[in-house]
Amino acid sequence: MAGLRRTRVLVTGGAGFLGSHLCERLLARGCTVLCVDNYFTGTRDNILPFLDNPQFEIMRHDVTFPLYVEVDEIYNLACPASPIHYQFDPVQTTKTSVHGAINMLGLAKRTGARIFQASTSEVYGDPEIHPQTEDYWGHVNPIGLRSCYDEGKRCAETLFFDYHRQHRVRIKVGRIFNTYGPRMHPDDGRVVSNFIVQALKNEPITIYGDGTQTRSFCYVDDLIELFLRFMASEEAFTGPMNMGNPGEFSILELAEQVIELTGSRSEIVFKPLPSDDPKQRRPDITLAREKLGWEPEVELRQGLEKTIPYFEHLLAERGERACP
Ligand code: NAD
Ligand code: UDP
Repeated sequence: MAGLRRTRVLVTGGAGFLGSHLCERLLARGCTVLCVDNYFTGTRDNILPFLDNPQFEIMRHDVTFPLYVEVDEIYNLACPASPIHYQFDPVQTTKTSVHGAINMLGLAKRTGARIFQASTSEVYGDPEIHPQTEDYWGHVNPIGLRSCYDEGKRCAETLFFDYHRQHRVRIKVGRIFNTYGPRMHPDDGRVVSNFIVQALKNEPITIYGDGTQTRSFCYVDDLIELFLRFMASEEAFTGPMNMGNPGEFSILELAEQVIELTGSRSEIVFKPLPSDDPKQRRPDITLAREKLGWEPEVELRQGLEKTIPYFEHLLAERGERACP
């Protein structure tokens, strides 16, 4: 009978932006999904469409506390991802990354489940090599405002590889670069959601610094496809593996594209650059290409066209959409 059983998948942070898309894809594949979230930045709205699916279960739980469930796979996504949110309670952010990793790795050790860690390009800090390859150790300030997130995620990676070496836990570590799409939190301050919301309201587009800093933006569907391929890959392939779209844009270019695609009357204003803000970021994705045959399919322009209607709808619901 065991062969007929559905794969039981735990998604921590499942009510967040990436987590909700992952839950959706896993359910579509026929998995049983347990979504664990403390709703710090996630919302029930994100998972509303699956709540009546009998294969979907939700548990309010903080991953800094142990969790006892029976599962075959774990995707550990629980952690606020936007600078505003992770700097709101930095001690809790480090706890979520570090204690959360220990608790989820302990669960993987007991159940024998495969476990994926949502790590981040922030482990490279303000990188001195460009584009970033996985063998680069990074350039991270250990005591700055971003450190709770950067160092928390770096420590989580250490824990993943130590549990792997010491306890033979089957791990997959993915370093996610800036990803965007529907279900991003409209007020979380990340650049894509900020610019789209500002443009739709005809409010000033806030560029921090002079806008020459760069980021590489991946559309959410491409990223989730890579999560699934990585989890299904041969056991020896643990990563760390970069996950992102290598198309690189300056923040000024992003602002101009958003204004054009929304037909906004917003003007661009320049604000001070936050401390330790990385100057450039682009993933080298050779590893994902060669090991998994993965290639991002959605270009930035196309991805923005898919994302803008989501925010239009959201703002209309809130009665905040400005007249075109
Ligand atoms: P998000 O803020 O939308 O989702 C995070 C989810 O984790 C939320 O639902 C939140 O409520 C939950 N959470 C936070 N702390 C928790 C705790 N202690 N216990 C249980 N749940 C908790 O962010 P996201 O963009 O979906 O990011 C998901 C993961 O991917 C994060 O680990 C993030 O670090 C990583 N990541 C995301 C990006 C990106 O561009 N989106 C880039 C790099 C890494
Ligand atoms: N940024 C900006 N205006 C905003 C929000 C962000 O110019 O309203 C800049 C920010 O300073 C950074 C880049 O956009 O250089 C990406 O910021 P985000 O918070 O999305 O992600 P991260 O810095 O973690 O890559």
